Parts: sequence; C-alpha cells; structure tokens
Amino acid sequence: MDEKQLLMIPGPTAVPQSILLAGARPMVNHRGPEFKAALDECTRGLKRVFQTSHEMYILTASGTGGLEAAIVNMLSPGDLVLSVSIGVFGDRFADIAETYGARVEKMDFEMGQAADPEQLRTRLSQDSGKEIKAVLITQNETSTGVTNDLAAVGAIVREHGALLLVDGISSLVAMDCQMDAWQIDVLVAGSQKAFMIPPGLCFVAINDRAEAAMKQAKIPRFYFDLGKAKSYLEQGQTPWTPAVPQVFQLQAALKLLEKEGMTDCFGRHARLARATREGVKALGLKLLADEAHASNAVTAVRRPTGVAVADLRKLMREKYGVVLAGGQGTLKDEIFRIGHLGYVGEADVIATLGLLGLGLKELGVDVDPAAGVGAAVSSLGG
Ligand SMILES: *Cc1c(COP(=O)(O)O)cnc(C)c1O
Repeated sequence: MDEKQLLMIPGPTAVPQSILLAGARPMVNHRGPEFKAALDECTRGLKRVFQTSHEMYILTASGTGGLEAAIVNMLSPGDLVLSVSIGVFGDRFADIAETYGARVEKMDFEMGQAADPEQLRTRLSQDSGKEIKAVLITQNETSTGVTNDLAAVGAIVREHGALLLVDGISSLVAMDCQMDAWQIDVLVAGSQKAFMIPPGLCFVAINDRAEAAMKQAKIPRFYFDLGKAKSYLEQGQTPWTPAVPQVFQLQAALKLLEKEGMTDCFGRHARLARATREGVKALGLKLLADEAHASNAVTAVRRPTGVAVADLRKLMREKYGVVLAGGQGTLKDEIFRIGHLGYVGEADVIATLGLLGLGLKELGVDVDPAAGVGAAVSSLGG
C-alpha cells in the first residue's frame, strides 16, 4: 500500500479529490475566455480569503517567488528595511531583501518565541528620520510552529509609516489574517499550504500605499513586475503563461472554502492544533513553541532523548505511512514537525498521534502508546 500515505507535513499538503479532478481537464488558451472567467473568479475569491478590497495577483511560482515579488516591487537598492524574524522563513525574507541590495537590519527572536511587538515599537519610535522603509515579518513561522500577533504589529508599523510586508504563506486559510483591518500593505500566500492545491502558485495582495511605493521602487524586475501583472489582469490575463491547471484547482478550492465558511475553517484548524499539542504532550514530548503563541497550522516537537529525528521519521513513513517533517536550519536534528493545515480532519490527527505512540515505543521510549490518542480525543470532545 505504498500509495496510501498520511501526509502530515506543512506543505505540500493533501489535496481533496474534487480539487485534483479540477486540474484534470483539457488545456485551454490562457488568453481566451475560459481562463479569463477562472482568473476573475479566483481573484475575487482570494480577496475574500485575504480580507482585502485591494489588488490581488496570482503568480506562477512557489511561495518564495511571492516574497521576491514583494521585495523587488516595493524597494530600491540601499533602502533600510527592518526584518523581524522568529525562524528560517523570516530569515529567508531578509535574505531576499539583502540579495537585491537593501540594507537589512535584523530583529531576531529566539526559536520558539513570537516577536515582541513592544520591541518593534521601541525601535520604530527611535527612527525619527523615517529611514526605515519597510518592516518584513512572517505571520506563521513554519519552521518553529509559532504565530506572530499581526494585529498589534500592523498598528505599530502604521503609526511609524513604514510599509508592512507579510509572509502569510502558511497562515492564510489556516488562521485569521485581516489584511485591511490589520493594516498590512503587502501580503503573500502560497498554493500548497492551507489552500489544499498542489505547488505552483503564489498570491500577492497589495494595497494603495504599496501601489504608490511600487511606482518609486527601483530594484530591477521583470518576471515578477506587478505593474505588468496589473495591466494584464485588467484584460483577464497574466503577463506570462500561468500554471493553468492550478488556477482551475484554486477555483475549486475557493468553492470548498466558501462552503465551509472561513470562521469554521479557522475553528477547525484551531481545534486540530490543540488536539495535536495535547496528544504530543501526553506522549511525554515537549513542544518547541511557547504555547501562548503556538501555531494552528503546524506543531514543532522536540525529539525525545535517545531518539534520532531521522529514525523516527523513517519508521513512521515506512511502517505506518505517516509522513512527518524534520526540523530546519539549526533545529534540523532537534525537532520534528506535524503539519495540520489544509485538507485535514480529526481522523488524520487521531491516526497520527496513535501511530506516533507506537513508533516511539518501538524506538525504545518508555511511553503508553495510546496516551496521545486519549488526550487528543478528550481535547476534541471537550
Ligand atoms: C513554505 C513557506 C515558504 C516557502 O514557500 P515555497 O513555496 O517553498 O517557496 C515561505 N514562508 C513560509 C512561512 C512557508 O511556510
């Protein structure tokens, strides 16, 4: 049963059958009426998910392409940007800015902790000359399973006046993200995380302030030029050939999300995340994240003493068909991660915790293998 896998990683995530099938239709002209209708519907649907009335672009690239689009369209070489990072993906956003010649000032927080908005407020209030052009931050840090308080960050950054560029790649759909209400200027998401679509698309929303900044920004850009994306979108097209099947799949995903309702969708993610944390703790394992800021999309777990992360993941995959993620960067061999975003339900979480219990016992951990399931079921029923 090699094909039967429980894909519990934070992207790519499981894809529902209706979405898979939406991609299996004959190709269409990407400059014809069928594609225009799909692109228009997707753009409108995405604005509801992003909770914005502003401009929304669908780009053919992985999430990192969306982050690169944010940088190259908003900044000029030499601009000072403040990078607020709580992990690997926060660092990547800063790396992109640095690569394109921005002066990056880092405000890093310990792995497992959320960014402290007060520290950000203090730094921005010192910048009386308004040298800082933009603040970069990740809403949900996938490498540590921690979520930042973007409502607070948004208010603080707007008071200063810098642009707020947000990596929402693993957060959109899995948790509330109110682009307009929280004063986010540029917000990026990706298809293969909570959207339940295969990899290949990213989504970039920009507000009026960002659009004005784009006209001044001097970093060279071509493929990711949002000015070109804007003029083509007005004709129901993209500047370059898009990943057509994924756009049809996005259309199907947005229909599923509309049926569930965003509030219920956020509630489902929160419930499953809580059950996962309770289950993991009942198995005697420790969470990496400060629980007050634990993510609803992914849970990072410290490896038990005496067990190598690689061995645990191999056993889980080969014997039980459960695919877990390892750690990234300096946490590579220290944690494993359970993704519970997108097309996930109670059955996935309960099965994962039960099989994790068996796997740990098999690797010599002194544990009641059923304890995780018991705690998760109690959490779901409570
Ligand atoms: C997955 C992810 C990315 C990178 O996306 P790719 O699609 O792999 O390029 C960036 N930021 C966060 C927070 C992510 O979870």
